[in-house]
Amino acid sequence: MDKQLLLDLSKEELAEELKKLKQPGFRAKQVLEGIYKHHYRDFSEFRNVPNSLKTDLEAGFLIDPIVSSESIVSKDKRTIKYLFEVQQGSRIETVLMKYSDRNTVCISTQVGCPMGCVFCATGQMGFSRNLSSGEIMGQVLFVMRALEVNSEKLTNLVFMGMGEPFLNYPAVMKTIENLTDPELLNFGARRITISTVGIIPKLREFTALDSQVNLAVSLHAPENELRSKLVPANRMHPLKSLIAACKEYTDKTRRRITFEYALIDGVNDSDIQAKQLISLVKGMLCHVNLIALNPSKDYPMPGSSQERVNAFAKILTDYGIPCSIRLRRGIEINAGCGQLAQSQQTQ
Ligand code: SF4
Repeated sequence: MDKQLLLDLSKEELAEELKKLKQPGFRAKQVLEGIYKHHYRDFSEFRNVPNSLKTDLEAGFLIDPIVSSESIVSKDKRTIKYLFEVQQGSRIETVLMKYSDRNTVCISTQVGCPMGCVFCATGQMGFSRNLSSGEIMGQVLFVMRALEVNSEKLTNLVFMGMGEPFLNYPAVMKTIENLTDPELLNFGARRITISTVGIIPKLREFTALDSQVNLAVSLHAPENELRSKLVPANRMHPLKSLIAACKEYTDKTRRRITFEYALIDGVNDSDIQAKQLISLVKGMLCHVNLIALNPSKDYPMPGSSQERVNAFAKILTDYGIPCSIRLRRGIEINAGCGQLAQSQQTQ
């Protein structure tokens, strides 16, 4: 029988498991501290629990879901891409991006992705399965341990790796509960961002939570015809309904929403399209992130030139839409979503 992944459990579920092992109530706190405060990977590292319990835990449970890992570091050493193998031989990617004032990890929620965005290496791979909450958490703890080697800390976390987080909603929400629980990782909710292509029913569920976790919605096109070509999910969740759901979110939570827009040369980066985007989002409590598209194997169009990105941003700014230009990171290490796993698949 496969061992159960401890990171899949809430603190209440862990307490139940320890009760079954006839352990006193305080053991749960000790085990949780070992995992989430000391970031132990192995039961042998625990100093505060008796050997008999370590043996019982070892027999039935696993702490770390990561079977093997490889990493590739960008030339400037500021982007590290990890390729992890998790249970069932699944391969996923996690990217650490180092900035002068923060360390951000981009984590995966699914193995592959069913959304099929045409420009995305993960979308081009297709979908295998959802990750469990423990497999999502395992990525975070791995990167925390890697940073600790140089006395660094993880400061920000984005659900923006492989997969559509709102299609794996229960696991993502459980991960967030464990991330933000003061007795577990105690990671600030405001330093977490969920990025979605806009699965409207789940967006509404998320709105109802009134969570402090940030929300980003990937638009990539300002009108339905083009968006349906680039982001096929648009056929089920068209722009008018999506923008209405986003407005419900900002009205209820009073939190700013981020719109992601990847600029593709000659496809979605014209002056007219900038003005269409303005019509779509004007009056909303929002911020637009612009980035030139990262190249991917099966999509022929390049990202927009820096000049075009700047011109697009200027039109938005002139109309009072707050926007930022994001720098592409780690192109030489295939740091775009899904690219490393894809390059391994095709070798
Ligand atoms: S961009 Fe995101 S939602 Fe679209 S295919 Fe890639 S991983 Fe899936």
